[in-house]
Amino acid sequence: MTDIIDGDAVAQDVRDGLGDAIETLDDAGVRPSLATVLMSDDPASETYVSMKQRDCEEVGIDAVDVDIDPDAPAEELYDTIDELNADDSVHGILVQMPVPDHVDDRDVLERIDPEKDVDGFHPTNVGRLVAGDARYKPCTPHGIQKLLESAGVDTEGKDAVVVGRSNIVGKPMANLLLQKADGGNATVTVCHSRTADTAEKTRDADIVIAAAGVPELIDGDMIGEGATVIDVGVNRVDADNEKGYELVGDVDFESAKETAGAITPVPGGVGPMTRAMLLYNTVKAAGLQSGVDVELP
Ligand code: NAD
Repeated sequence: MTDIIDGDAVAQDVRDGLGDAIETLDDAGVRPSLATVLMSDDPASETYVSMKQRDCEEVGIDAVDVDIDPDAPAEELYDTIDELNADDSVHGILVQMPVPDHVDDRDVLERIDPEKDVDGFHPTNVGRLVAGDARYKPCTPHGIQKLLESAGVDTEGKDAVVVGRSNIVGKPMANLLLQKADGGNATVTVCHSRTADTAEKTRDADIVIAAAGVPELIDGDMIGEGATVIDVGVNRVDADNEKGYELVGDVDFESAKETAGAITPVPGGVGPMTRAMLLYNTVKAAGLQSGVDVELP
């Protein structure tokens, strides 16, 4: 029987666990606060930001909402980041990507105070992660670690294949899995667009993490018997419904679940975990910056 890993339930557990930490902060007179900065009129980005704000409010994190005209000069964004960096009541800063073409996203990431960088993308935080001393683990790979843990999948000594090498998912995921730490100690292979034969790698893997952004790239033939399959992909494909599209993962769920021992669905797998781990990092940031010891789930 294949185990369908329920990301909504695990994310709820994380949020419940954060409630205790938020209470501890509250007792010390600290209210965690996340500032989201949106410099875009892309509807998808607007939706992501409003979801993040709603998530914050639901658990008792203040959501500070900053909108910048996408046509404004880059300096306006930099000045906003500087102000938020200097504001002691703000613990986390998230600039919704992508930013307009006239703004260099690397400059943006480097501008954010690493202590407030709850995405974990500042070079200092990337370096710390690679060195095995992560301050803020990037939300999606961190959420996947939690999912694996909750499904009882011990990564130690396992062969893990990560499909995708982006800075936000593939690379940090591979790094976390190979760390000498709980949720790590795996032997990690990273496949990408130039990999000669991805199927050959995934078939031998105990754990497959699909983060390529290619609809249903990984099917049952590419999965070994009993493997754990984590589907990060969220891809819009045309569909004969009211919206005219549907969201599918990077895994062909129906065929992969025939061979997999455990698998995440899309939606309801990795997505809710990414959202929960942003809250986790914000609460962690509030604890670190206020000097209040909080126990995180
Ligand atoms: P990206 O486009 O930045 O990176 C995709 C990676 O996949 C690249 O490194 C590329 O080399 C690799 N790749 C492309 N085609 C491949 C192929 N045929 N075989 C092997 N590797 C291939 O994407 P990303 O930002 O890492 O996101 C990946 C997917 O995950 C997207 O569908 C995205 O929407 C989704 N995503 C979901 C969440 C979530 O919370 N659920 C979070 C982030 C990203």
